Amino acid sequence: MASFASIIDNQRKFFLSNATKSIDFRIQQLQKLKMALQQHEEEMSRAIYLDFKKSDYETYTTELALVYGDIKEAIKKVKKWSKIKKVRTNSANFPAKSYLVPEPLGVALIIGAWNYPYQLTFAPLVAAITAGCTAVVKPSEIPENTSKTIASIIQKTFASDYITVIEGDVAVTTNLLEERFDKIFFTGSTSVGKIVYQAAAKYLTPVTLELGGKSPAFVTESCNIAMAAKRLTWAKYLNAGQTCIAPDYVLVHQSIEQQFIEAIKNEINQAKYTINNKNYVQIINKHHFQRLIRLIDSSKIAHGGNFDENERVIEPTILSNVNFSDAIMQEEIFGPILPIITYTNLKEVVDQVKKMEKPLSCYLFTAHNKDKQHVLSELSFGGGAINDAVMHISNSNIPFGGVGNSGMGSYHGKAGFDAFTHYKGILDKATWLEFKMKYSPYTDKKLRMIKKMLG
Ligand code: NAD
Repeated sequence: MASFASIIDNQRKFFLSNATKSIDFRIQQLQKLKMALQQHEEEMSRAIYLDFKKSDYETYTTELALVYGDIKEAIKKVKKWSKIKKVRTNSANFPAKSYLVPEPLGVALIIGAWNYPYQLTFAPLVAAITAGCTAVVKPSEIPENTSKTIASIIQKTFASDYITVIEGDVAVTTNLLEERFDKIFFTGSTSVGKIVYQAAAKYLTPVTLELGGKSPAFVTESCNIAMAAKRLTWAKYLNAGQTCIAPDYVLVHQSIEQQFIEAIKNEINQAKYTINNKNYVQIINKHHFQRLIRLIDSSKIAHGGNFDENERVIEPTILSNVNFSDAIMQEEIFGPILPIITYTNLKEVVDQVKKMEKPLSCYLFTAHNKDKQHVLSELSFGGGAINDAVMHISNSNIPFGGVGNSGMGSYHGKAGFDAFTHYKGILDKATWLEFKMKYSPYTDKKLRMIKKMLG
């Protein structure tokens, strides 16, 4: 394999040739990617099932469908997004036009996480192609079959001086981060996000950091309990809880706690999430399996708690009577364990959550507008949903990303295009008029006039 430096050098040469900038080229590449993904759907499904038994259904609905949706929208809108945008000119610059010229940032590095390996590499790639960048893609090495499949699809579809895959572990990523990129798009943990940010600082490379955290769900006494339980159960146990925007824990009003827990149990049973169900995803590896088992406090199990170590499967588990000081509340769970904390006063519990790091998502189940207003005005978080969970990611008009510890920047749809784009701000001035006031020698009279005009 060529050295990283030469791969990047070749991509930069290709980028500087302007080949990636034409709209026709971008659309062709998006279509090529879509065809390649469609042709390899079975192979992708097989690989991810080998890695952590993700079902065909979840692979399609939570990974590929999202990428296809982004491609479809990008093909439809890339021309509009790439147009020069006029903006108003201020009076001091009269007579002139002002506009923003979108330009692709250049050679992008896309680093993916393991939990949605296809979506988290291909969706940023769609955004990079749409913006007119070249890309080096580094999938997570943890689902190794999936990583190989991503590499093989991209290598068959694109020339390496345009888009390529570099597979590898932490050491490989560390070396890759030594190189100079024009954009780094990283999805992963907050701790590694900090490493990436530091590496990017060396060349002042702009970054998007899609990180994680503990996303709360508030379940108020006014909510539709059955619907809240249905949507939260799906959102929590999807991908066996290994979802960055899964409801990490639930804050439920004390008066409805028992009813809510019963409703969740009922949903778990109906979904048939059992250890032997081939639709129920495995925990990704032994390390995470052991970490999760340690988080199950047996004295607090309200449901589930069983597991199969050989199969790396943990039953959907509910923990009740949980406190903010419990071990499970000290880290992102990233598994099928749902801690339930009760509250009596929404304002007080919101204040508790406010003391924690800003989460990637927040969910609120309520029938009252005042609850919505309170949570939305008090808490800072990446994005979220009211009376639903996780589904906000499927609306590409909602930029997806975190804030503070859960990340910076966002993507999907136009936000994805913007993530790989720089907007050059241009003042385009006429030559038929100029104000003498602007120029030296400065006089008191000029100052008075300027103050009148601009004050
Ligand atoms: P991770 O941070 O361990 O790994 C992500 C990527 O970084 C991988 O490609 C890995 O090879 C690389 N990496 C790991 N350690 C590194 C190091 N020391 N130096 C350089 N590179 C390194 O994350 P993960 O375990 O793959 O994913 C889980 C985390 O990602 C969770 O916190 C989850 O919330 C978050 N996540 C966020 C989103 C989002 O869109 N915001 C999506 C999925 C996952």
